[in-house]
Amino acid sequence: MREDKTSKLINEICSYSLQSYNESIGLIVRKILEVGARITVWETSEKSEYSPHEKRIFLGVKNRAEALHIVWSLLHEFGHHIDEIGKFGNKNDVEMGRERRAWAYADIEVKNYSDLMSEITSYKLRKEYCLNRYAKRNGLPHQE
Ligand SMILES: [Zn+2]
Repeated sequence: MREDKTSKLINEICSYSLQSYNESIGLIVRKILEVGARITVWETSEKSEYSPHEKRIFLGVKNRAEALHIVWSLLHEFGHHIDEIGKFGNKNDVEMGRERRAWAYADIEVKNYSDLMSEITSYKLRKEYCLNRYAKRNGLPHQE
């Protein structure tokens, strides 16, 4: 992606009340693009997803309870990409599942950003919520 397009993408994400995290978001976005994934901001969706086929993160930005949830989603979907390209985790570890692996990668990534680390409680609550939503859908016990 060309530099002006990258900057535009970063600015677009930051426009959802995330200006104060501009620097970290810029680093995360550049890192994602560097490892071969693409990002599409999904204005009409509250949910995010990763398409392994397109190697694309669809980042839902609509009606988020907290603006930071967008960042936590970005880190989690980044984890799916890393998992998919086989750079992280053990794919035979079926119990952990791809959702847990994606969050486990996000856990590592978030530590690189001190401004995001100061919001780690928000991150952890979101992670727990998402893992439990996943567990419930699949009839699994409560996840810590
Ligand atoms: Zn996921």
